[in-house]
Amino acid sequence: MPVESYKVETHQYDVVVVGAGGAGLRATMGLAAKGLSAACVTKVFPTRSHTVAAQGGVAAALGNMGEDDWRYHFYDTVKGGDWLGDQDAVEYMCREAIPAVIELERFGVPFSRTKGGKIYQRPFGGMTTRYGEGLAQRSCAAADRTGHAILHTLYTQALKHDAKFFVEYFATDLIKDPASGRIVGVIAIDLNAGALHLFRGHAIVLATGGYGRAYFSCTSAHTCTGDGGGMALRAGLALQDMEFVQFHPTGIYGSGCLITEGVRGEGGYLTNSNGERFMERYAPHVKDLASRDVVSRAITVEIREGRGVGEHADHVYLNLAHLGPQVLHERLPGISETTRIFAGVDVTKDPIPVLPTVHYNMGGIPTNHHGEVVQKVGDDPDVVVPGLFAIGEAACVSVHGANRLGTNSLLDIVVFGRAAAERCAEVIRPDTPHRDLPSDALEPALTRLDKLRRANGGTPTAQLRLKMQKTMQTDAAVFRTATTLEEGCTRIDQVYAEFADIRVSDRSLIWNTDLVESFELANLLAQAVATMHSAEQRLESRGAHAREDFPERDDVNWMKHTLVTVGDKGECSFDYRPVRSNTMTDEVEPVPPAKRVY
Ligand SMILES: Cc1cc2nc3c(=O)[nH]c(=O)nc-3n(C[C@H](O)[C@H](O)[C@H](O)COP(=O)(O)OP(=O)(O)OC[C@H]3O[C@@H](n4cnc5c(N)ncnc54)[C@H](O)[C@@H]3O)c2cc1C
Repeated sequence: MPVESYKVETHQYDVVVVGAGGAGLRATMGLAAKGLSAACVTKVFPTRSHTVAAQGGVAAALGNMGEDDWRYHFYDTVKGGDWLGDQDAVEYMCREAIPAVIELERFGVPFSRTKGGKIYQRPFGGMTTRYGEGLAQRSCAAADRTGHAILHTLYTQALKHDAKFFVEYFATDLIKDPASGRIVGVIAIDLNAGALHLFRGHAIVLATGGYGRAYFSCTSAHTCTGDGGGMALRAGLALQDMEFVQFHPTGIYGSGCLITEGVRGEGGYLTNSNGERFMERYAPHVKDLASRDVVSRAITVEIREGRGVGEHADHVYLNLAHLGPQVLHERLPGISETTRIFAGVDVTKDPIPVLPTVHYNMGGIPTNHHGEVVQKVGDDPDVVVPGLFAIGEAACVSVHGANRLGTNSLLDIVVFGRAAAERCAEVIRPDTPHRDLPSDALEPALTRLDKLRRANGGTPTAQLRLKMQKTMQTDAAVFRTATTLEEGCTRIDQVYAEFADIRVSDRSLIWNTDLVESFELANLLAQAVATMHSAEQRLESRGAHAREDFPERDDVNWMKHTLVTVGDKGECSFDYRPVRSNTMTDEVEPVPPAKRVY
């Protein structure tokens, strides 16, 4: 079908947000509150976004449960990220955390309360007081359903400010003005009607979440397919730090469902087949509350050395029965239910079988602390891409560096969602007219759509997806070596090439899930290739990237962000950005690199 025959309805807004998770909703409501016209395009109903599943909490040094200071939070985040985070952005996030959480409370988030009526805060891995001396209680929680509470509140706020939602619209590609090269819109399929829509905006905000589904076992929703990252790569932009994939230590064995770190925050602990609390050996100081990469590696070592539990000795136990039914009921009702359903375990009596499971992508679309996408041009690593923003898990600010601390992502999404809205309000005048686009501007996106719709090869999408997921799971795992990574690169490149042989069996445009999943697979594949190759070229261990052949961190050669672009044939090219080790103000001292021990 000639692409000219596709009818595309055009909409014009000041700003278009793609994604209605916590990041997208915070940006959308902020834009509408500032008087800009904002459209939020989302492939699932807003309150079904993955943010809804977040359990443990949102970090802010409120000091409701004891001593705390945002500077301690800043220190923990820099250290947790193994000195790959940009310290100016980390400062911004940790300072803004306090007003951001108070604002959430005023918006109506039903936080759990202390006896005195303050927001309840629990301990989380890597969160300390006095620069590592004590354990901080910093994670503000609404029982173990914090993301649910935040997402629903932000959605009602966005509706209150009259933001316009386009629900179950699947965005396929960014649209560039061929003359200027500027990004001026995004094209989407209305899944219900099977119709095509072009959303014009003076800014496009990508808030599309992570790409956890590139792996076989992950805690993220089936919708976490990195569509924003895929769109950015196809627009020729580089992604940053893709080798850093976080494994959460406690996914339920078998299903991968998350058991929040809040369980260990409330006093739960891990044991091996000898019944030993093995974390005491790996992190004598904070034990089960060491940061996630440390705990995930400890579990992996225990299993490898033959101290796993179960028939195949291939997982460990998370014990929480000693907390008593009342604490479990009040503070952890969600995980009690999840465990009953997915592990058949009654947590008041028995331990939960757990295994490290892919949980979060530290890497993503590089931005500054306003959420503006940046690229390296010549010697300048921070050139703003006009008209494009990225926020939330899709972005890499970078505040999480090589390893994110628990409860810093719900924080990241509200802080940078808000920052992006404020930046748009500074640089865009409401109702600025849009320039006409030449008729061929949509051609690349429509050609791709038409080709995929008619794809008639021999490989069903689900089959190829499984192959990709297994490859990532085996070869870009908790521990990595040159051998597994080289093999992984060869295998994942092959999987990428096989996409040319994909078969889409449904030819319509109405609720064509086969087509949608094929678009998603294309996005996942590009980021899987980027992740594997980025991991292969980084010859050190830092945060979540643990190389057995290079066990030490190498600040001389590798204290830099990886930038990767992926060409049409899946070929990766690399460049680097320096880490910003300076702070934004003199209210806090930069943290000099040190060995990361807990
Ligand atoms: C089980 C689980 C528990 C977690 N617990 C915590 C926690 O306690 N504390 C914490 O800080 N972090 C936690 N995290 C991490 C955190 O929840 C996520 O990183 C964060 O919520 C991501 O938010 P987001 O807005 O970036 O993306 P998401 O919430 O994933 O939303 C993505 C949005 O993009 C839309 N979208 C995607 N692609 C397209 C497309 N092609 N077209 C149109 N729309 C599209 C989707 O419809 C969706 O609305 C948890 C994560 C998981 C998986």
